[in-house]
Amino acid sequence: MSTQSLPLRRDEATARAGLLTIEDYDVRLDLASSEETFGSVTTIRFTSKGGPTFVDLKPVSVARISLNGSPVDPATLAKGRLPITTLEGANELVVEATMPFRNDGEGLHRSVDPADGRAYVYGMCFMDAAPTIFACFDQPDLKAPYTFHVTAPRDWTVIGNAPGTQTSPGEWEFERSQPLSTYFVTLVAGPWHMIHDEHDGIPLSLSSRQSIAADLDKDAEELFTLTKQCFDEFHRLFGIRYPFGNYHQAFVPEFNAGAMENPGCVTFRDPLVFTSRVTRGMRIQRATTVAHEMAHQWFGDLVTPQWWDDLWLNESFAEYMGNRVTADVTQYDDAWADMSYARRQWGLTADQRGSTHSVAGNGAEDAVSALQNFDGISYSKGSAILRQLAASLGDDVFFAGAIDHFTRHRFGNATMHDLFGSWASAAAAAGVEFDLDTFTSQWLLTAGPDTLSWDPAKMVVNRTAPSLHPANRSHTFRAAILNGTQWTVEDITVTGDQTPLQVAANAVVLDPYDDTWAAAIPDWETVQALKGALPSITDGGLRAGVWNNLRSAWFNAAVDPADVIDIAEASLPIEDVEDSPRRTMPWLFGSVVPLAPAGARERLHEAALRKLEEVPPGSELQLSAYRTAIRSASSESLLREWLAAPPAGIETDLDLRWRILAKLAENGFASREELHAAYDAEPANDARIHLNGALVSIPDAESKAYGWSVFTGETDLPNYDILAAGRAFWTGPAELTAGYVERYFSELPATAEKRSGWSLAEAAEAFFPSGSVTEETLAAARAVVQLDLDPGVRRRVSDAADNLQRQLAVKVTYPRR
Ligand SMILES: [Zn+2]
Repeated sequence: MSTQSLPLRRDEATARAGLLTIEDYDVRLDLASSEETFGSVTTIRFTSKGGPTFVDLKPVSVARISLNGSPVDPATLAKGRLPITTLEGANELVVEATMPFRNDGEGLHRSVDPADGRAYVYGMCFMDAAPTIFACFDQPDLKAPYTFHVTAPRDWTVIGNAPGTQTSPGEWEFERSQPLSTYFVTLVAGPWHMIHDEHDGIPLSLSSRQSIAADLDKDAEELFTLTKQCFDEFHRLFGIRYPFGNYHQAFVPEFNAGAMENPGCVTFRDPLVFTSRVTRGMRIQRATTVAHEMAHQWFGDLVTPQWWDDLWLNESFAEYMGNRVTADVTQYDDAWADMSYARRQWGLTADQRGSTHSVAGNGAEDAVSALQNFDGISYSKGSAILRQLAASLGDDVFFAGAIDHFTRHRFGNATMHDLFGSWASAAAAAGVEFDLDTFTSQWLLTAGPDTLSWDPAKMVVNRTAPSLHPANRSHTFRAAILNGTQWTVEDITVTGDQTPLQVAANAVVLDPYDDTWAAAIPDWETVQALKGALPSITDGGLRAGVWNNLRSAWFNAAVDPADVIDIAEASLPIEDVEDSPRRTMPWLFGSVVPLAPAGARERLHEAALRKLEEVPPGSELQLSAYRTAIRSASSESLLREWLAAPPAGIETDLDLRWRILAKLAENGFASREELHAAYDAEPANDARIHLNGALVSIPDAESKAYGWSVFTGETDLPNYDILAAGRAFWTGPAELTAGYVERYFSELPATAEKRSGWSLAEAAEAFFPSGSVTEETLAAARAVVQLDLDPGVRRRVSDAADNLQRQLAVKVTYPRR
């Protein structure tokens, strides 16, 4: 559907915004008549300067269209666009259509909970899916108020951007909303479990599927407390009241992103309602996500980027404010250290690849190309640069500028230029001398990070700019210096290619606290010293900084895998145990172990078992150590023993049971029957995802054939099940999957016929043969990106090829002994 439509070009958006002013939308949806489709009647009132334009519409079928009372021929609809000729002055367009429920996390997504058979629906319009729900002028700078009327099954609750009430059974009427961009209009409908609260005059609510109601109840107080603390802090910092009335936080199934900042009705992926026990890292991730979406209510929703080229600023601002507010006013005062593990390498690696781009000023000629640059550079690098800017300007100027921006463009749109103008005026008014133009050109308009390294022989810090993106940037950061057994912290300013640093030291860790934006690479002596020193470091920020230094070295083939394993064996980073592919543990086991000397996995397993003994029973560190021990295990008897009786302090919940079952399956110790029986005993969304991953990881031809049918789309699974299958596919003996390496490249282009958007690109990445570290696989990857691929697929595969090239460089530089 979306592959059949034309992405909106920037020049088209500019022309349409110059022609039209939207008065309001009236949208009438019937969600009760079918499980496949829904009725959608949209009335758009707008004024025009008169002349031809088009409305965006991606329906299943159209019943009737009228413009100013005259019929419009639905047959003129092509590639998602309906041409119309507007009158000068007031116009009214009415579109009666049938729209598709989708199952890929975009548009109006409908899914059935395997636990109890109940169906749930939510809207995700970002970034160009609104026309699959209602007819609209789909661009961020044509804002208008919306009035929704919804017919739903009688046992459903319906929530939208504005407050709504059920006027008769199954009939819901919503208040007229504030002016909204099309991309954040939403609707959340189903037999949801609801919890209500209130804070400072703002009605608050939470919702989840009924089958996880008890888990939402358990954490409701934590979630409401976080929300209240963040509201107070945002009100204090911004001095502008939250402008959208109610604040609902909906946890929804099969959601692609972490969350979406729809004004008044934020949607979160529902694994953030914890049905199994989680580590502190996961709670921090949820808290920063809550705060991030709240920051967007001002930056993004109240004032919205005029065009997609400023989307980075939207995310950078929310990311910086979300982390800052979480660390400052909630129980998670260690949020920055966790973010360092979770996000830093996402941005640094993206910024070192051939596909890097400047943070700002990418042009983004159309919506689809804008999405390709929506990456670790937008979130992680952009927020690091804003943090530097806030530190340089000082809080008074930083927030005075932001408030000026919110006030000038309230309920409207603005650009980066507007915001930086507000900051320049605020700085001038406060008498703060700061060269914003130089800052912008060095950090936001020039791509690539500098490399920083310490030369112990010359006692200098070397700064190297990327050769493809020359720059002359200064860096101010802290360095951690180990002398004997004593760590001290030193402030350093680097303004040239070599900066003297005269210290007596056996280890120097540059920029461990993420003060600047650079790839800091440890020298050989520091790496050796860390083997003994890391275990006694208790400062979470410094530990995260050490691992980021090691990962930056790995990315540049500047550290021996044997040394990384020695350090990890001495001090596993079990405080960082979440499974997001960007974090440290998946890197350690997925990238380092395969290139390290034989026996590395076994040594890390023993280290995890020792950790399990050392840490207090019942603690989250114990859970982390246990999960690492399961991840690295290969003994059937041990895994079976844990399945029957876990260590004291641990209870086997759904998550742990499936981690163990998956490990048994991967090693050939669990049958398909055993896996299906475990699912049937406890059917749930997350269990089904685990089941599909485990089924694919069984080391036999039948399982790999099943996994392949998921990749090609022959077996149709929801988004997260596809990812689980992809991540499990390449496990097991290489001879089982060797034949699929070539098939991946020949069959990849056709996957675009079965999937689109987010899930298409994610599947391409998840199934990439990253374990095949050979010149042939690299050449095949380089060749396939030359084909006419979906842009999302091309970006993921080029980045995967870049990773492969870097793995090859490690393999060549440090041959396996
Ligand atoms: Zn965001």
